[in-house]
Parts: sequence; C-alpha cells; structure tokens
Amino acid sequence: MLLLRPKRFLVCFNSRIKSCGFSVKRQESLMGPKPFSAESTSSQPIEHYNVASADESFVGLQEWQAWGTTSPVPSMVNQVIRDLKILEKETDSHMTFDGNHGRLSGDFKVQEDKKHRAKYASLVDSEKKLQFFSARQIACRLLGSRGYLCQRCWLASEDCMCSRVATCSLAKQLHIWLYMHPKDFLRQNNTGKLLWQVFGVHAATLCLFGIIEHEEKMWNVFELEGRSKVWCLYPNKNAATFSVTDIVSHSWDLERQGNGDDTMNFILIDGTWNNSNAMFRRLQDRAKLIWGNELRCISLNTGASLMHKLRPQPSWDRTCTAAAAIGLLYELQHVQEFSSFELDKQAEAIEHSLEVLLEALTTRRVRMGRSISRRGRHSDDIV
Ligand SMILES: [Zn+2]
Repeated sequence: MLLLRPKRFLVCFNSRIKSCGFSVKRQESLMGPKPFSAESTSSQPIEHYNVASADESFVGLQEWQAWGTTSPVPSMVNQVIRDLKILEKETDSHMTFDGNHGRLSGDFKVQEDKKHRAKYASLVDSEKKLQFFSARQIACRLLGSRGYLCQRCWLASEDCMCSRVATCSLAKQLHIWLYMHPKDFLRQNNTGKLLWQVFGVHAATLCLFGIIEHEEKMWNVFELEGRSKVWCLYPNKNAATFSVTDIVSHSWDLERQGNGDDTMNFILIDGTWNNSNAMFRRLQDRAKLIWGNELRCISLNTGASLMHKLRPQPSWDRTCTAAAAIGLLYELQHVQEFSSFELDKQAEAIEHSLEVLLEALTTRRVRMGRSISRRGRHSDDIV
C-alpha cells in the first residue's frame, strides 16, 4: 500500500515488526558513525525485577515502572491479578502461559475464560468494559513476562539488547506520547518501546489505551498546553490532514521562540491497523469533549526511503511506530523553526536502535530454527 502512495506517507503504526525477512546490515555500514552522543546503556546498571522477593499477589510500583512508565500502578490491573490468584485457589490449578508469555494456557485458561467472560458481560457500561479488557490484557502480559523478559527492552533476557542501545536527548520542544494498545504491551517485536529506551520515559511517554492512570495523565498535559500544541500522526479520512510544515503556522508562537516555553506534543498510535481505529476514535471523542473540536492530524510526506531500507516484505504495508517517529523527526528538521534542534541526530539514534532490534529478533529466530525468509513465515509469529 505504501508503494502505491509514494507522495503521502501514511502512518498507521503497526507497532510490531511483522516480519523478519529482511537482511540486516551492519549498522556502521548502513548509517555511518553515529553523530549523537553514544552514551551506551551498557555503562548503566540494568535493574531486573526480582521475582523471588516480591509479593506475587500484586504488581508493585517498582516493578510496574521498570517496564517503561512513570505512572502509579493501575488499580484495575492489580484487581485483575488478585482475581486471578483467587481463581487459582478456588480451582486448585496453577496459572500457566503460552510460548509468548502473554496469554494464559492450559486448564487454568479454560476456567479463567469462563470467569472473565461472565465478568465482561456483567459490565453494562462500555467504558467499564474497555477498562476491564485493557487491565486484563496487561495483567496477563505482566504475569507471563515476569522473570522472562528484560524490563527495559522487552526481549527475552537471553536476547537483551540494552547494552547496544545508545541513549540520546530529545529536543525539549518535543514530547512524544506512545498511545499503545494493550495487546502490544510487552511484545518483543514492538518498536514503540525504542522511543523511551533512547529518549527516556519523560520525553517519550507510554500511554496505554484504556488505562485510566495513563490516559488521565496525558490529557491533563494536553488540557494545560492547549489543542494547538497537540498533533496526532494519523491519516484522518474524515478531516483535513496537515503536513509537518503546517505545524508552525498553527501552533508555533514565533514571539516566544527561543524561550523554550513551547512544547509540541505528538501522539503516535501504537497498535495494529484494526485496533488503531478504535484508539483514534477514543482520542477524538475526548478532544471534542474538552475542546469541542477534534485533534489535528498530520501525515508525513517522507520516510518511504527509510522504509525501503527496513521493509522486510511487501505485505508489510504500513510503517512501524519507530519508523514513523524517525520520519517525523527528519521532516521537522527541514522546517526552519525546528532546524536548530538537531532532530536529524535524534532520528538517527532511533534508526540505530531499530537496527539493533531487528538484528536481535533475527538472531533469536535463527537460534530457534525459525525461518527468516519471506516465504516461510506468517505475519504474527515473530516471537
Ligand atoms: Zn534489555
């Protein structure tokens, strides 16, 4: 699809790298020496959550935040975990997870299916249904990933790529919000996670769809800063879509330029194409409630060349979240008002981390004896 629309780089942000049929080049030959500060995370201590010392009946603040967020623990996630533990006792069965560690399996899954379907049906309010759905997804992924995934890079511990990721500061005039679908939370092939791995959680903030603690925090910032400072990267079919160059005329206060007061908020919807529609609608409903008007959407004009470089196969027709961020930063770099922020270097930092992730995932597949060719794989079985 992208190839058919070379002029307009539509960003859907299928957050997962759906295929590994790419050839991974050495990062040096691909991108040259990195101009950004290569303060490798290898010099920083990597804190892994100590499962054995924790009270496994709930998720504590330290464990929760180690996955890439600064928010308090979502209360409904802990409620779901408590219910799962109670069910274990009631049914005298142990919670087990599938090979991806994100879904329940075995006898316990059968029991839990009945219980969560009944609970879901009992909720009459669609908002409550969504919150329960999200909390349950996240609770299961958290429990299944404990002791299995590295909390920073969301890869299996033996594949941890943290030591190869170089951190970089995002220009203070920019704030990225990763609005992530719960089904993409803790997925090894998610690429949105790279943004806070590189820029830090205060510059690239995770906001989980349906998790009130996250959504409220994000909207509090948006309300404070105003609609003109919030941009959603999404091809809005029902309204005018802006380009990056329009940002200046719509929200950049030239008189205040240089004072460092203006922060542009960019929302990247991090989910599959089908899921992203519901996520986008939820954002717009909230925007209309607050401002009586929808969020402004932008689509990118460039980025196709980058995608050709990274594109694993023809069916990967929409870009991944990290590539969308790279495209955004490169385009902003060419806007005069943003040109001094060194956004190209920040884009290269993400580009570098994406290469590292692709290489780690490929290495994993090869080690596990799985195909890395285009023909031999399906879109959703990367991990
Ligand atoms: Zn790691």
